Amino acid sequence: MCRHLAYLGPPTTLSAVLLDAPHGLLHQSYAPSDMRGGGTVNADGFGAGWHPDGAADAVRYRSDKPIWSDAAFAALAGVTSGTAVLAAVRSATVGMPVTSTAAAPFGEGRWLFSHNGVVRGWPDSVARLAAVLPVTDLLTLDAPTDSALLWALVRHRLRAGDDPARALTETVLAVDAAAPGSRLNLLLGEGTRIWATAWGHALSVRTEPDAVLVASEPVDPLPGWTPVPDRHLLVAHPGHCGIHALTTSESANH
Ligand code: GLN
Repeated sequence: MCRHLAYLGPPTTLSAVLLDAPHGLLHQSYAPSDMRGGGTVNADGFGAGWHPDGAADAVRYRSDKPIWSDAAFAALAGVTSGTAVLAAVRSATVGMPVTSTAAAPFGEGRWLFSHNGVVRGWPDSVARLAAVLPVTDLLTLDAPTDSALLWALVRHRLRAGDDPARALTETVLAVDAAAPGSRLNLLLGEGTRIWATAWGHALSVRTEPDAVLVASEPVDPLPGWTPVPDRHLLVAHPGHCGIHALTTSESANH
């Protein structure tokens, strides 16, 4: 199952966050340590999104190749810096296409989004949920995958003005009700805050006075990593993180 990560803090290169850490996304792509739910490596593409210092909108780089095979990305990552980074390495669910547009992060404007997991009974189980989306959203899905649909559902709520915590919470609860047993670790960022759900997969957070790092697996052995309990929502910004039970939108929406 895919691995994802988000960073907020002082400007840093993409390499420092994704490639250089001893168990960063590069290492997690070929040697993940907690692949519950199937899969052995994350070789079906990757993506990185970042907010250049001072920029409102995010920039994205996505590929259908393993992250370890992309020398152009490694060169770019060494000289590209941002105050916010959100990235993922992908292990495609059986039956789903391997294309760059199926790799997270998905995004729009300042928003970046990733999904680690699977929607059970895809696509029939969630067809009724998808019907709330405008037809143009369905016709322009990034890819015919569960993750792309989850992003369309979250984006629909954000466009309607939902609080991001509520958008993630309502989406997870609705999809789990329609497709029980789904694994729904969602990760959302917009440059200054991070929202993430733990629902069937591992998630950890490390807060520092001026930074915060959220990742499927701790990227280094340093102290300070806290596991996020299953069925919880994390809301974080530099120096702070709050963890709320994912039972109702009320408990998460603050
Ligand atoms: N089901 C999603 C996909 O195929 C995510 C896969 C994962 O988490 N391994 O893209």
